[in-house]
Amino acid sequence: MLKTFYSIFIGVSMTLLLVACNGEKASSDESSDKVQVVTTYSILYDIVKNIGGDQVEVHSMVPFGANPHEYDPLPEDVKKTADADVVFYNGLNLEAGNSWFEKLLGTTGKSGKDAPVFRLSEGVEPKYLTTKGKEGQEDPHAWLNIENGIQYAKNARDALIKIDPNNKEVYEKNAKDYINELSALHEEAKKGFANIPENERYLVTSEGAFKYFSDAYNIKAGYIWEINAENQGSPDQIRQVIDLINEKDINVLFLETSIDPRSMETVSRETGVPIGGKVFTDSLGKPGEDGDTYIGMMKWNIKTIADQIKKHSK
Ligand SMILES: [Zn+2]
Repeated sequence: MLKTFYSIFIGVSMTLLLVACNGEKASSDESSDKVQVVTTYSILYDIVKNIGGDQVEVHSMVPFGANPHEYDPLPEDVKKTADADVVFYNGLNLEAGNSWFEKLLGTTGKSGKDAPVFRLSEGVEPKYLTTKGKEGQEDPHAWLNIENGIQYAKNARDALIKIDPNNKEVYEKNAKDYINELSALHEEAKKGFANIPENERYLVTSEGAFKYFSDAYNIKAGYIWEINAENQGSPDQIRQVIDLINEKDINVLFLETSIDPRSMETVSRETGVPIGGKVFTDSLGKPGEDGDTYIGMMKWNIKTIADQIKKHSK
């Protein structure tokens, strides 16, 4: 009797032990099967997800809705960057504030020449800042021209193939589908402002993030400050944009989802020109909300800007 009890007990324990081992093995296998990716911010996260599909697990560092120009990586970001198979960043002077990204690569052993770290804006023709003292610095907001977004997608594809050549065909297929969708949206965007009179085609935002967008889609852009940095919304900057609004007879202003609204609210109050809505620049919308993908944010921007200019047309 006692012997039987012990055999059952031992039998059950062994079974539990095996189940536990199997469970653990299965889950660690599952995560190590996927390419571990880290991106600096949400827009790159979405582009890489579209190319990597089920083969990748992506961690985005700067939270959705926050500004990627400056950031303090959390312990989780440090760990994930150290463990990552591949790291993607924008470059063009974006992740440069307090050198947060460069420092992170240094502390995680990812700063060497052969480190699996890729700049997604590689091959994009840069535009430059014009503010006194910043001339010659690159303007980071290349993704706001969808043609550049296509270049980002191609770079993500090539990098993933390099890191995980066994899934080359999957990445090529995903990239082809995604680039087709982006190309269609780029063509649609080019027509987006065509039926708005040229003198009313003016996009005024807090940060001057729309240089690339402006050129691609034939709409002029104005701003309070040129790039997110320490000097935002100074009295001088506010006065200059008010002069521009009066001189160009601008009828509507825009806020960005990832920027403090107070400076633009001051400009609106001082000029009596209304704020027409929010646009996405440096971050996607939160998951489940409007603009929570790169394609979604670009569609939202084009529609919001065109609709609001038409609505406030004199
Ligand atoms: Zn920005």
